[in-house]
Amino acid sequence: MPTTADATHTLRIIAQDPAVRVKGEILTATVPVPAEKLWRGPWGHRVQVIDYDATSGVLYEPLTYATDGKGRLVDPFTHRPPATLIADPRFHQQNVYAIVMRTLSHFERVLGRRISWGFSGHQVKVSPHAFKDPNAFYSERDHGLFFGYFTGPKGRVFSCLSHDVVVHETTHALLDGLRERFTDPSSPDQAAFHEGFADVVAVLSVFELPGTIGRLLSLAPGGNGSGERVPRKFLSDEPFVRGLLGVAEELGAAIYGIPGRSLRASYATKPDPTAYSHKADWQEPHRRGELLVAAMLGAFVRVWQARLKPLGVGGLGGLDRDRVVEEGAAAAEHLLNIAIRGIDYTPPVHLTFGDYLSAILTADREIQPDDRKYEYRRLLRESFAAWGIQPGARPPDKKRSETAPLEPGLWCPLDPTRLTYDGVHHEAMRRDPDEVFRFLWQNRDALQLSAEAFTEVLSVRPCRRLAPDGAPLHETVVEARQLLELSSKEQQKLKGLRALGADDDDGYLTLTGGGTFIFDDFGGLKYHIHNAVDNIALQAQRIAHSLASPLRSVPVSRRFAELHRLRASDQHLLTPADRW
Ligand SMILES: [Zn+2]
Repeated sequence: MPTTADATHTLRIIAQDPAVRVKGEILTATVPVPAEKLWRGPWGHRVQVIDYDATSGVLYEPLTYATDGKGRLVDPFTHRPPATLIADPRFHQQNVYAIVMRTLSHFERVLGRRISWGFSGHQVKVSPHAFKDPNAFYSERDHGLFFGYFTGPKGRVFSCLSHDVVVHETTHALLDGLRERFTDPSSPDQAAFHEGFADVVAVLSVFELPGTIGRLLSLAPGGNGSGERVPRKFLSDEPFVRGLLGVAEELGAAIYGIPGRSLRASYATKPDPTAYSHKADWQEPHRRGELLVAAMLGAFVRVWQARLKPLGVGGLGGLDRDRVVEEGAAAAEHLLNIAIRGIDYTPPVHLTFGDYLSAILTADREIQPDDRKYEYRRLLRESFAAWGIQPGARPPDKKRSETAPLEPGLWCPLDPTRLTYDGVHHEAMRRDPDEVFRFLWQNRDALQLSAEAFTEVLSVRPCRRLAPDGAPLHETVVEARQLLELSSKEQQKLKGLRALGADDDDGYLTLTGGGTFIFDDFGGLKYHIHNAVDNIALQAQRIAHSLASPLRSVPVSRRFAELHRLRASDQHLLTPADRW
């Protein structure tokens, strides 16, 4: 058993992708993973690796660990030559276990609480060699992550060895737990958000791995080998940055038949402020998700530049390589934390990319009010604007008790004098949905919640977050959903809904709305982040989009598999500029 002193143990994994090599060697990294006594699999308290191949009918021998004299787990792959790791299914088992656990623990650390998967049950089942097909997906119905393999031009390719792909699938399962309604048909943005967010987490996670940026720097075109200096303007060199930010290269190269073609090529295209609103080829969900990735990666490069600025003053020659690496990893980690933390500040239904931008800006302002040093929030706003994405926050609505935002693009805080806390217990408000419901009900006028709609508190989550300086921030995040069933007669009265008809056999149309409520440490409501059930313009858009969605006929349980399949086969959407 690990002692209490061993909060983590270390395991070796493949960093980024087996196709990425330095001097012919695969990049590996040794990473800390929360310590626990593992059963055969590996099988831990949150992750169970089951290595069954449904195509060949083979059940691979599960990995078991020995422990040393102090009860610490011994990684059998620590000293193995990297080339032998690719051929050993038991290493694949360790690779997925470690990356899934690491991703989960990152979310838990940033959000300041335990995080559930998007299904009932505590353990996600992970199949590293699930089937022979160039696909990988999260299945809510099967409580699992499934990784395929296939034969590429240079031999067998395992999606379970791509760091990006494993983090991407894990993120789907975590996001589904955090926002269960984001898989509902709603808007082009909501359909694309799961894909885009999973990619953002995947790409930024790679840079967080120990030593990875340094090794990738020497790989990128113009990266100056492994010299001690890095070209001063290296982040202005587009091919260099593209090489650095390439994602899932082995899979991409095999699927597209283009060496070096990454699976997701967001950074390959130049920012286009008309892309978000006007360009038809950005409307498909899997393509649209790349807008979000492009905006976040643009912010990453800007932040990295900002952090390197002090190094450039009065210096000659290149930049100190160690500092470049250090600042790049710090920028990636900080942005990844911002990206994850923002999820708690998104509305529970009908998300747009603009809503997500306001969410990350507001969540960051709460934990780090002083942003003057590197101006992360300004850089994020600019980077999103470069792709035409503006904050979703609207001007304060006094009827909803909103006051002016603290900075441009943030959600509006609430006026505390308009709310009543009579009869509610602060302690119970941190955990009890009925207590929270009482508060919402008695403040329904001040918050403009529709009293006619069926209201359900979906979750009550107390969190203890840590600011970058280590100061704790206590919050409780509540999600509530409102459903309004309208007969055709009732619809007639609402301008804008008339032509939409029913979505069930009894002639009723169900409108969905909801809000996220952020309470402070003392039980005071700070923010009500909402997409209201009685916002008719929003509802009309939502219904029109869901009727036209190609995924409408696909059962929810198959949606991720189908989305990935569409994405992989979607070569006709790629412009020549993408092919690099
Ligand atoms: Zn996906």
